[in-house]
Amino acid sequence: MTIFVDMDDVLADTYGKHIELYNKEHQQELNINQISSGEMWQNVPEEHHLSIRQHALQPGFFRDLEPIKDAIPVMEALYNKHDVYIATAATQFPNSLIEKSEWLAEHMPFITWQHQIMCGDKFILNGDLLIDDRTYNLKDFKGDTLLFNSPHNVNDTGFTRVATWEEIAKILL
Ligand SMILES: [Mg+2]
Repeated sequence: MTIFVDMDDVLADTYGKHIELYNKEHQQELNINQISSGEMWQNVPEEHHLSIRQHALQPGFFRDLEPIKDAIPVMEALYNKHDVYIATAATQFPNSLIEKSEWLAEHMPFITWQHQIMCGDKFILNGDLLIDDRTYNLKDFKGDTLLFNSPHNVNDTGFTRVATWEEIAKILL
């Protein structure tokens, strides 16, 4: 199988980084467990929206994201069994491409550069499966899809969901 795997909020905890920066910038103690749905910025007062929207423009934002639980070992096993490619939007934020390359080199060094697709739109990808947390990436993909749970997609319907990398391992390994 040819499998494409998204990075933000699938392999790397982007949502958690937004919360961490928000807490520092505004002296808050917001916790992921307090958030049931929506984008991170939708869970804070309106006067703080702009600062959250600017996080991704900060140098280093994508470099030190925490790996999602179990993502590293399951990805390594998947990589050894299937034809696995990273498929991550990297042209939206100018600093993200090099930072995502460095993140992969640190956390998933088994993924060669030939298997890292730093892209814009993902509908152009041609393969068997796309794992992503954004339905706008999944809806036009020609193969199968798995929607990785995130607070921002809890109200999206019509997609097969996975909540953890353990679940992905059970399906694909
Ligand atoms: Mg994502």
